[in-house]
Amino acid sequence: MTKVKGRVAVVGLGPGDLDYMIPAVYKAIQGAEVVIGYKTYIDLIKPLLEGKQVINNGMRKEIERCQLAVEMAEEGKNVVLVSSGDPGIYGMAGALLEVKEEKNSEIDVEILPGITAVSGAAASLGAPLMHDFVVISLSDLLTEWEVIKKRLYHAAAGDFVVALYNPKSMGRTTQIQEAVEILLRHRNEETPVGIVKNAKRHGEKVVVTTLGKMLKEEIDMTTVVIIGNSNTYIKNGKIITPRGYSL
Ligand code: SAH
Repeated sequence: MTKVKGRVAVVGLGPGDLDYMIPAVYKAIQGAEVVIGYKTYIDLIKPLLEGKQVINNGMRKEIERCQLAVEMAEEGKNVVLVSSGDPGIYGMAGALLEVKEEKNSEIDVEILPGITAVSGAAASLGAPLMHDFVVISLSDLLTEWEVIKKRLYHAAAGDFVVALYNPKSMGRTTQIQEAVEILLRHRNEETPVGIVKNAKRHGEKVVVTTLGKMLKEEIDMTTVVIIGNSNTYIKNGKIITPRGYSL
């Protein structure tokens, strides 16, 4: 007898509002037998989950969720594993593939992209990402702080626009201050900064400020911060990084 081959689709929900989720993700969730995810994200898609087996668990249980997804797919089930934003950007795609390889599993895996926080935030701020940019997570849970600092330094030296994910949490408050100090070694205090909390979802808050003043603003784990390059400017409340067109 041939074994029924299950599958896992790792899907990105986008920034949070269902209008910003791509139709392919919507269809994958509709077609799933089992939906696995962190509770906050499962709550976002509740209207789509009727009649499905739903498994939600807490924060920092990423590997458990992936192991479960692979095991259930091996039983022949059609599984969806949900991630916020884009699953391939600090999301569940990498962990799922690592767990699959570690188990030598032959299940099918499909990764469906989503709008990542930085694109949602950029759209609300104007056009800050029109030139080369880097994304750096300030979370040192899985990455050494020394490595993060080195990347910040070189991003600043290279005059990249810099987007910060996981900028500050209740227990992690000094990293954002150090990040600003490092950026100020290569950029002046007037450099435009955009701070977006809850980008493209309920409760969105958009702040346009500067590198010298940004630490006075509210920044937390539902916030993404975008720091301009040396050419970025603010006009009528919007942040613009020029692409280089002659107008
Ligand atoms: N996979 C996600 C990122 C997960 S890391 C994505 O692609 O967007 C978690 C961090 O992402 C948060 O600490 C915050 O910095 C950022 N983030 C995620 N969604 C956000 C939103 N809607 N608004 C602002 N920041 C968000």
